[in-house]
Amino acid sequence: MSQPAKLPKLRLATVWLAGCSGCHMSFLDLDEWLIELAPRIEMVFSPIASDTKTYPEDVDVALVEGGVGNSDNLALIHQVRQRTRLLVSFGDCAITANVPGLRNPLAGPAAVLDRSYLELADGSAQWPHAPGLVPELLERVLPVHELVPVDLFLPGCPPPAERIRAVLEALLRGEQPLMEGAEMIRFG
Ligand code: SF4
Repeated sequence: MSQPAKLPKLRLATVWLAGCSGCHMSFLDLDEWLIELAPRIEMVFSPIASDTKTYPEDVDVALVEGGVGNSDNLALIHQVRQRTRLLVSFGDCAITANVPGLRNPLAGPAAVLDRSYLELADGSAQWPHAPGLVPELLERVLPVHELVPVDLFLPGCPPPAERIRAVLEALLRGEQPLMEGAEMIRFG
C-alpha cells in the first residue's frame, strides 16, 4: 500500500522590528503546542530560532512584530514583503505603531536622542554615532501597512497565545484565518 503524500512544511518567519519582543514572548507562550507545530513548519528566519541574518526567499508566512522606526527596519520590511506570500502585522505596534510610536508627537529623532543620550546621561553624554552600525531613526515610527501591503492583522499587546494558535492552525489547514469576535481582534 502506498504511503500518503507528506504535506509540504509551512516556511515560517518571525520578524522583530521596533517592538519590545513581547509579541515573540507570546508566541513562545504557545508552550507544548510548539511541539505539535515544529514538525509542520520550517522556521526559516526568527530571532528566537536561528542566527540567520539574511531574510530568505520563498517564505510562506511572516509574523512581523513592531513598527518601522529606523533605516534597518525600513530595508527589512521591503525585503520581507518581496519574499513573503502572506505578511501578518503581528501585534499592536506593527498595526498602529503603538508604544514605539509614542515618540511621534515629539519634534523628530533629534529630540528623542537629546532626551535619551544627553539630558538623561550620567556621563559621557553623546549621541550614538557609528555609520553602518547604528541605524538612523526615521522621522516617525510607522505602522507596517503604511509602507507595504499587509495580508492579515493580528492585534494585541501582545496577541494572546490562543489567538496566535488559531491563526497558525487555519494557515496550516490552508485556510484564511477568521478574524472576528473579541477573542480574535481586541487590541491591547
Ligand atoms: S504590541 Fe505590545 S507586546 Fe508587542 S511589541 Fe508592541 S509593546 Fe511589545
